[in-house]
Order: sequence, then C-alpha cells, then structure tokens
Amino acid sequence: MVYPWQQRQWQLIMQQRQQQRLAHALLFQGPAGVGKKQCAIELAQAVLCLQPDASGYACGHCDACHLFKAGTHPDYRLLAPTPPATSASANPVLTIKIDALRDMYRALAETSQLGGFRVAVILDADKMPMQAANSLLKTLEEPGNDTLMVVVSSHPQRLPVTIRSRCQVIRFQIPDTAVALEWLGKCGTNGAQTALKLAHGAPLQARDFAETHAQEREILIKALISAQSGEISIQYAQKLAQMPRDYLLNWLLDWVSDLGRLLTIGADAALVNEDQRKVLMARARRADRSRVFGLHDQIYELIRAEGIALNPQLLWENLLISWENL
Ligand SMILES: [Zn+2]
Repeated sequence: MVYPWQQRQWQLIMQQRQQQRLAHALLFQGPAGVGKKQCAIELAQAVLCLQPDASGYACGHCDACHLFKAGTHPDYRLLAPTPPATSASANPVLTIKIDALRDMYRALAETSQLGGFRVAVILDADKMPMQAANSLLKTLEEPGNDTLMVVVSSHPQRLPVTIRSRCQVIRFQIPDTAVALEWLGKCGTNGAQTALKLAHGAPLQARDFAETHAQEREILIKALISAQSGEISIQYAQKLAQMPRDYLLNWLLDWVSDLGRLLTIGADAALVNEDQRKVLMARARRADRSRVFGLHDQIYELIRAEGIALNPQLLWENLLISWENL
C-alpha cells in the first residue's frame, strides 16, 4: 500500500494504466522524505504482478510477487547511487554506476522473461553522471513495448531538461501536518511534533530522525552551546566530523535561519527549532545580523556542493568558530 498522503498519485497512475495511457517513463519528483521511493517500488511490483487487486496493488503471492520480494525478478531492476568501492569515508560521494545502468538497458531491451512488463526504478536519479544521463536519454527516446521506467528525484532541476521533458511528471508534496502526525503516531514515533518540524513536514524523514538521528542533533546543539560560551571544542569538531554531514549541515542551516528570523521578525517568530527557543533567543541578543546571513549563505553553499571533498574536521572547526563570532 502507498502512504495515506499518496492516494491521489496512486489513483491517477492506476487510472492511466487502466486506460492504457500510462507513459513509458515517469518522473516521481518532490521533497525528500515523503515516500517517492516506496511508491515507485509499490508501482513496480503492481505492474509486474500477475493478479493485481481492484485498486491496482500487487497480490503479494503470485510467482511474480514472490520473485519480486526475493529481489530476483528477472524483468525488474532497481538502481540507486552507491559509494566508490574503495571509500572508507563517513560521507562518501554517491553516484549511479554506469555498469548498473548498462545492465538496466539490457534488461529493458530484452524480451520479458516472465511474459509481462519489464520495469526499472532509478532512485536519486540526479546522482547520475552526465555520460550516464545521455545514455538514459536514448532509452527514453526509444522505449520498448511493455516497459516502464520510474525515475525518482528530490532535485529534478539537476536532471538534464532533455530527460525531464521525456518523462511524465508525478508530483509528490508535503502532506498536511495532521495527516503526517497521525501516521507518525501509528508508527509510535517519539517526539513526533519536533521531529516533523525539523523534517520540514516530511513524514519519513521525521520518523528517520526520531529513530536514528536524535542523538546526533543533541551533539550538534551541545557543540553550538559550548562554542557560544567561547569554548571551541576540538573534541566536538572531531565528533561532528564522524557523523552524516548532510543531516548536520541541514540542521545547522535551520538553526542559523531561526536566528535570522529572531533578528528580523523578533521574539514572536515561528521557529523550526522551537524546542530550543531559549538558547536561540540568548544567542540572538548578541548576534550581528549581517554575519548571521553570511553564515547562512556559507552553509547553504556547503550543502549545494555535497560532492566536494572537504576535510571534515576542519570544516566543523571553521563552522563552530563562525558561530561563535556571529
Ligand atoms: Zn502478485
């Protein structure tokens, strides 16, 4: 089943499928953490299933479903970015490998082994090297019969326009807060409200945060508070360097944005880090507005340049110093 907030997208796709109007290539786009990947995989199984139910979902027990669940369906490929084979970094650069793409092209071009559709799902498709994107284009221009490719991306603007224009776009959005909170409640997520705020409303990211990353945020907050009182701790920089950079930088960006809000709107400003209002207010009282915006831009650029190799400890030492000097 797809998530409660994806019903509209699911029904639209099923309707088009029924009317045999479904495009050969779909682009699932929308913010990270709203379940695009899960919906794409659900769709792949549904399309391959030999006896889908009335709502179009896979039956779960036919031969095709068994193979799909075992990860051995011969007419199905799932591609996702992977780190370099030799990388020992805590934050390796992830890319979609050309070899995996070639294997996918072959699978889509060959005759279906089970006599039905051939389906490929490409996750984080924007992490594809240019050369790979060009070869993908060829497949999109000459799709075989009974093939479906689902291209998934949270940053579709990074995909070449030639690829985007050959896919039917299915948009996924941040669900209503009430719907997201209800779902998080059913998952038994602790601190759902704070987690959802930190995830900017994306329910899966909120759950992931609460289950896996809450402690990391605590370490970041401790590092910021200690830097705030004039103590740049090398130890903290070392610890932060070992943690997932994407998460940390995005939290820090929110943290600095909150500070900017307090400085421009005042004490009533709505904050992402609502649970840390007191600490932020104390920092805002002696912060320089232009420096706050400068640091905001600096962090934003670091997030954008995700693939660039930086010495992680130096990065965090610099950021903590910048925070202290605001
Ligand atoms: Zn089935």
